[in-house]
Order: sequence, then structure tokens, then C-alpha cells
Amino acid sequence: MVFDSIDDRGHEQVSYFTDPETGLKAIVAIHDTALGPSLGGTRFYDYETEDDALEDVLRLSEAMTYKAAAADLPLGGGKAVIVGNPEELKTEDLLEAYGRAVDHLGGRYITSVDVNTGVEDMEIVRRETDYAVGTSDGLGNPSPITAHGVFSGIQACADHVYGTESVEGLEVVVQGLGKVGQALAEELADNGAEVTVSDIDEDHVAAFADEHDVDTVAPENVYEEPCDVFAPCAVGGVVNDDTIPQLECDIVAGAANNVLAERRHAEALREEGIVYAPDYVINAGGLITVAKEYLGGTREGAFDEAAAIGDRLSEMIDRAERQDTTVLAAAEEYAEERIENAESVDETAVPAE
Ligand code: NAD
Repeated sequence: MVFDSIDDRGHEQVSYFTDPETGLKAIVAIHDTALGPSLGGTRFYDYETEDDALEDVLRLSEAMTYKAAAADLPLGGGKAVIVGNPEELKTEDLLEAYGRAVDHLGGRYITSVDVNTGVEDMEIVRRETDYAVGTSDGLGNPSPITAHGVFSGIQACADHVYGTESVEGLEVVVQGLGKVGQALAEELADNGAEVTVSDIDEDHVAAFADEHDVDTVAPENVYEEPCDVFAPCAVGGVVNDDTIPQLECDIVAGAANNVLAERRHAEALREEGIVYAPDYVINAGGLITVAKEYLGGTREGAFDEAAAIGDRLSEMIDRAERQDTTVLAAAEEYAEERIENAESVDETAVPAE
């Protein structure tokens, strides 16, 4: 059963680690290292069953392979899960034990933050291994860099649909005014776009609208709000059978992970004549930031690389049009070509300084 699950998705290695003294139970999945060492965050989550944890880590690590390849990074895809309730289990001792587990993989897997693990946790993990990024001595908060990448992706989509990269006068609805949504709304407004913002936190929306030249829309009306670009920056699954018929936009391009409830919704958007920028392509700024931290580079360099997301997305949109397929399928093909054509690389990371 376990071998079947691993074979199905073509993983290279799945490692289980336990440490009875601290209660650590971790699974590290290395999906593909053709382009370089695998990189991906550690999710700390109270899964109902161990099968659920395995399924999650296999799915997430495979997604990281595509994300890194589609971002032109010299990295492969990996991910880790620590099984259990972080409120009860997360201790310095457990995180140190986890750091030793990561170190044991000798650089084939580099870890970072994810759901229920943060910068402080990575600093503890770093005591035991060099193969951890996303610490406070890294390149800082990735969210504005993610937003900058989404901005460049929106420009690429606008160029394709309206024949201009300029966002001046472009009507954009930003769903979710969190770390990324807020930075995106600001960058769009600063560049002359007509921005409408929405969040379930009404006080936050009101305070933001007081300080910026933006309109607001109630969260329940966000999908039917007429606009050029709908930018989902809150939660996953918001593009689904219920919302697609409501959408009054030409482009869906935002930071949220797993925007499509199901893969078939990429085709459904295409049938509606809506250009969809695949989430993992357009939101790669966060990954680019931690990759730069690991591979060596500056925050400015990360901003520059995030700005190149638009060019890559343009290439994928053109490819999709030529092949009469979805941009999602074109993005996957782009990533797979990079992996297939990879020169032989050292799959083991060199410890960061
Ligand atoms: P965040 O938690 O800072 O912000 C999310 C915001 O969405 C919050 O303000 C929340 O109130 C709001 N929200 C939640 N549900 C909502 C709903 N139904 N309608 C409207 N608003 C709602 O998160 P973030 O870091 O800004 O990330 C946003 C999305 O982008 C997430 O899906 C995240 O996985 C993805 N992402 C983030 C980064 C990054 O660098 N932070 C990188 C890649 C992908």
C-alpha cells in the first residue's frame, strides 16, 4: 500500500522518523531531485490517520517539484509533515530531534516554514542542521515578494487579454487582505489600477480603505463584482462549480494556493473565456525568496526574480493558445520539460554559510 502510493507519483524517497522521547513522528517525502536538492516546508498537523499524513506529504512534495521547475529554480520538490497537535507537541526538544532527522538526509532535502511552523521554529531546527531556511537571518518576510510576482503575472495576463502590460485603469478585485493581498493591493493602486478589496475581517477592510484609494466589496458578493481581474489571495478552493458562473472577469490571477477546487475547473474557466494564471506559477515569489536565501542572494535579487514570473507566465499562455489547451496544462508541460532536459546535477545541497 505504501509502496503503491509512492510509486504512483514517482517519488524518489520517503523517510519516516520517530523520536519516542519527544513524541516526534515525521515523514519527509523527496519527490524529484533532477534539478537539484529538494526544498519544501514542514507542515505540523494533527492528521486523523497516518495514511492521511502520508497522502498529504506525497501530494505536497510533488507539487513542490512542479513549482520549483516552473520557477526556473535549480531545485527539486520535497516536503515534510510532523504528525500531531502542535499546541501539545511542539517543543524545542522535538524540533531539535526533527532537525537531526533532516540532517540525516544529508542535504537531499532542505526544509522551511509551512502550516504551523514559523521562523522561530526553523531557528531551532537550524541548531541541528544546515539544511533549513526561512530563519530570521534570512531574506526577511517573503509576502511582499510574493505580491510582486503576482503583480508581474497580472501584467502578463493583461498584456495577453488587452494588449498592454500597464495596469493603469485596470479593475482588480483582491480577495483577502492578508500579508500578500495587502501588498498586492498597494502595488496595484500605486500603479494606477482601480482596486476593490474584500476580506472577512470587516474592520481591517475599513481601516485599509481609509488609508488607500480603493473600493470595498462584501465577502459574499466578491465573485459577482464586475472587474477585469479577480485576484484570490485568501484561501484555496474559491474557484469552483458555484463561483465560476458568478465571475464577471476576464482574468483570474492571485496568490492563494490551490485556488481551483478541482483540476477540471481550469478547463471550465477556459470555456468561459477567462484566462487563469496557475497558482503555483504566479505565487512562486515565496519559494524564490527561500531559494535565494539558500543558494545565496539578496532580497533585491529575489524581487527581480519574482518580477520575471510574468515573462514565464506569458510563455505558458502562448503555449496554451498554440496547443489549444489550458494554461495549467501548459505550465505542467513547461515544468516537465525542464525536468526531462535537466543536466546531471548534484542532488545534495551544499550547506548554507
Ligand atoms: P494571510 O493569512 O496573511 O491572509 C489571508 C487573509 O484572507 C486574511 O486577512 C483573512 O482574513 C482573509 N480571508 C480568509 N478567508 C477569507 C474569505 N473567505 N474571504 C475573504 N477573505 C478571507 O495569508 P497570506 O500570507 O497573505 O497568504 C494568502 C494566500 O496566498 C494563502 O492561500 C497562501 O497559502 C498563499 N501564498 C502565500 C505566500 C506568502 O508569501 N505569504 C506565498 C505563496 C502562497
